[in-house]
Amino acid sequence: MEERFLSVEVSNNDVEHESRLRPKDFSEYVGQKKVVENIDLMVRSANKRNASMDHVLLSGPPGLGKTSLAMIIAKSLGSELHVISGPAIEKKGDLAAVMTNIQPKDVLFIDEIHRMHISVEEILYSAMEDFRLDILIGQGAGARTMQIDLVPFTLIGATTRSGLLSNPLRDRFMAHLHFDFYSPKELSQILANNAQKIDVKLGHDSKLEIARRSRGTPRIANRILRRVRDYALVEEHDQVELADVDKALSLLDIDHLGLDSMDRKILSVIKDYYSCGPVGIEALSATLGEDKQTIEEVHEPFLLKEGLLLRTPRGRVLSEKAITHISSFS
Ligand code: ADP
Repeated sequence: MEERFLSVEVSNNDVEHESRLRPKDFSEYVGQKKVVENIDLMVRSANKRNASMDHVLLSGPPGLGKTSLAMIIAKSLGSELHVISGPAIEKKGDLAAVMTNIQPKDVLFIDEIHRMHISVEEILYSAMEDFRLDILIGQGAGARTMQIDLVPFTLIGATTRSGLLSNPLRDRFMAHLHFDFYSPKELSQILANNAQKIDVKLGHDSKLEIARRSRGTPRIANRILRRVRDYALVEEHDQVELADVDKALSLLDIDHLGLDSMDRKILSVIKDYYSCGPVGIEALSATLGEDKQTIEEVHEPFLLKEGLLLRTPRGRVLSEKAITHISSFS
């Protein structure tokens, strides 16, 4: 069981594939200036106090660098990182087993913390506040509370939906830091670093084009970089040119705005089935045959940021920009 929860490789497939491209320290970690400034201060203070760092909540869409930052934090604190996925913990005892294995000043990273089962979440309250586990054993009149002392540790919670966190849990994080999408310039820098790591020669224009079409997300930029590398390799091109990027991106079905086929499907369904909106998330999810959570957490943030989708009290509405974009495909 411990392996399932504690192993970085097993808990997240992307972690395994991306480990080579992960920034190793703050100097390699591009962008998110405000977040990094806050974390840097907290790490330095913890090191000076020779104590555990305060608990911190990292929120933002997937692939923006929350896990990478947690790894850098643990390294800067000189401590071990324990990675677990919120929804994968089914019983209080599972979380208790992880927490009692933690060494002083270690970092516990709980990904998708908003999807943790409420009964499991409740044991985090005293663990975060008093470094103590209060576990209720038995039921009814015979129930009793067992207390287990924990060592001081840091909890880093990562969430794509901070609004779904319960108030008691949210209040126990001393810092709430939000991740924004990356600018094309920041993504270009990440691409330049990663191209070197995987031995790919990227022309300036190619780099900018990938950056522009990566939905402001380093994980997507990395994915595109890999496909572009494959394409240039098979075509025996020494350096990746703009035409290679275009071909690789059309193979991936990514358009000039960086939208993938599901993004476009969302926009088309709103246009064709709901007269451009408004439409509620339940109806949209049923028509698309796509999980509501995936639409809200993976697709919508970028569509909203690009002004393609608008959220109104009555539901999602397409913007003029989206209507024009979709028309160019039909
Ligand atoms: P999240 O935990 O938010 O889903 P990750 O930390 O797993 O995101 O990031 C995915 C990949 O994107 C990483 O493996 C890394 O290669 C790249 N990445 C993310 N943020 C940065 C950054 N600030 N600087 C450089 N690379 C980054």
